[in-house]
Amino acid sequence: MPEFKAPLRDIQFVMNELLEAEKLYQTLPGCEEATTDLMNAIVEEGAKFAENVLAPLNQSGDEEGCHWSEDGVTTPKGFPAAYQQYVENGWPALSAPVEAGGQGMPNLLGSIMNELAGTANWSWMMYPGLSHGAVKTIEEHGDAGQKEKYLTKLVDGTWTGTMCLTEAHCGSDLGLLRTKAEPQADGSYAVTGTKIFISAGDHDMAENIVHIVLARLPDAPEGTKGISLFIVPKFNVNDDGTLGERNAVHCASIEKKMGIKASATCVMNFDGARGYLIGPPNKGLACMFTFMNTARIGTAIQGLAHGELSYQGALAYAKERLAMRSLTGPKNPDGPADAIIVHPDVRRMLLTQKALVEGSRAFLYFLAMQGDIVDRGDEEQARAADDLMALLTPIGKAFVTETGFEAANHGVQVFGGHGYIREWGMEQIVRDARIAMLYEGTTGIQAMDLIGRKVLGSGGKLLTGFTAMIDQFCRANEGGASADFIKTLATYNDEWVGLSMKIGEKAMENPDEAGAAAVDYLMYSGYVALAYFWARMAVLAQQKIAAGEGDTAFYEAKLMTARFYFDRLLPRTQAHMQAILSGADNLMAMPEELFSL
Ligand SMILES: Cc1cc2nc3c(=O)[nH]c(=O)nc-3n(C[C@H](O)[C@H](O)[C@H](O)COP(=O)(O)OP(=O)(O)OC[C@H]3O[C@@H](n4cnc5c(N)ncnc54)[C@H](O)[C@@H]3O)c2cc1C
Repeated sequence: MPEFKAPLRDIQFVMNELLEAEKLYQTLPGCEEATTDLMNAIVEEGAKFAENVLAPLNQSGDEEGCHWSEDGVTTPKGFPAAYQQYVENGWPALSAPVEAGGQGMPNLLGSIMNELAGTANWSWMMYPGLSHGAVKTIEEHGDAGQKEKYLTKLVDGTWTGTMCLTEAHCGSDLGLLRTKAEPQADGSYAVTGTKIFISAGDHDMAENIVHIVLARLPDAPEGTKGISLFIVPKFNVNDDGTLGERNAVHCASIEKKMGIKASATCVMNFDGARGYLIGPPNKGLACMFTFMNTARIGTAIQGLAHGELSYQGALAYAKERLAMRSLTGPKNPDGPADAIIVHPDVRRMLLTQKALVEGSRAFLYFLAMQGDIVDRGDEEQARAADDLMALLTPIGKAFVTETGFEAANHGVQVFGGHGYIREWGMEQIVRDARIAMLYEGTTGIQAMDLIGRKVLGSGGKLLTGFTAMIDQFCRANEGGASADFIKTLATYNDEWVGLSMKIGEKAMENPDEAGAAAVDYLMYSGYVALAYFWARMAVLAQQKIAAGEGDTAFYEAKLMTARFYFDRLLPRTQAHMQAILSGADNLMAMPEELFSL
């Protein structure tokens, strides 16, 4: 497993220099404490915890996996102790609301901590990771009693949360779910059904687990309009907050799976378990969306995390591994061969990783900051930020996990055959990264959400909110030292709007056109969005170099990576555009029976 070193310089560059987080937080009520000094100090402490406590458990957790018995699930050696330390250090409460005992720090810091912990050990991060969404859901939709009973202990990490949506016959189409909730005389509900694939559904890291469960009330309408949301604790909670008797919810088994092996993926049986309705009846899916949006940004971070770890491993290896000579003559004349980093193809892979990872970091931190504006900005600011998040969350989730997986794969390739061998840890990164494109809505589902609900569904309003921001940036920087980046970005920005309109026109005649375009459109959108962040980084790097403020090598590297992104990765949009413009016929014309001929 590559040794994980937190990419502090880049994190601080994006947070402080590019996005000027302190400047924003000084204007948001309740965030004033988040100064650059304090944020840097928190990130540096988080980095130490991730490097020293979590990273050493990453490979051993993968080797050992989780253990099931009738008494419950046990996690790999070292996992519970690391969790205790995490709780004692106050990390779960970092960006949680002050009213619930949290520290009230910005979402951005919470996301950075997730990135650091998740890059060091994604499987471990899944356990506390799911609690954030549970907190947000109870905070927004719970009644006063539920908040009092559950929030504080979820926030301080004494308990963890889960998200119980999926059933054996339905994951994407939750309208089909069958778990029932029968009202009881005492106002609670008896929840009965089986949920599958429940991450952190059972474990030995916290004293209670608060399941957030989707189920149907008796006589509920069919489909998504008949789904309600329930809190189902593993141990019932007494009115004084102490733990009561064991609830009738148990882990029936844990899945054997491709990656994130130290994260317990549980089949959960609810056998008349006592549950409590949260939010209005039959509005459960709408309430759950609060949870899912938080989780989607969390999953986008997984793409970034695996890309980063793979890049660190590949870069170190490429500087050490000797193979053949540089095409332009020996670069290591005293050695038997040159290090493979001299070869153009190895550089192509490394720079692809670097450009995708650093671009995604800027994109996701920007998204996390929009979350802070939604939570704490004035009405107008919050609405604009909410619109941006609505558009960018599906792009962030799907594009960053797809490209994170690509980056993880390049890491294996840089290692050659050794990348395929377990001891180096590079294949684990690929296995771990693969799930991110599936859970929290597959890439296909995110793409339908983007083109259908967000772009066409808003009549283009959400898209033009973002493209107007890009346009404004381009106008402010045209003719400057980064003029060629700006010119290219402006062209793509216009093309994005035009392409969206074309899809809209075709979809009016044939709805399959939207479905046929969806994933290519999402990837196209992701590349243009990343170009905006790369152009911003390039402009800033030029300014820093011109100002002679020092650290020139860092800014030169940014500029060269921006150049690589614009020249070699951004043109991928054109293949996606051609695929979109080719229309739905080449997908839909073939009758089903011809597929097997
Ligand atoms: C390791 C792991 C952890 C998980 N953790 C959780 C968890 O904590 N809680 C939880 O509730 N669930 C969890 N899941 C479940 C996960 O969210 C689902 O597997 C996922 O949403 C996909 O659902 P599905 O497996 O039923 O696939 P399906 O919905 O059957 O989809 C199959 C394929 O069809 C495509 N598809 C379906 N409908 C459409 C459409 N309309 N248009 C285009 N394509 C479509 C999908 O994109 C996919 O490619 C987890 C899964 C795994 C493997």
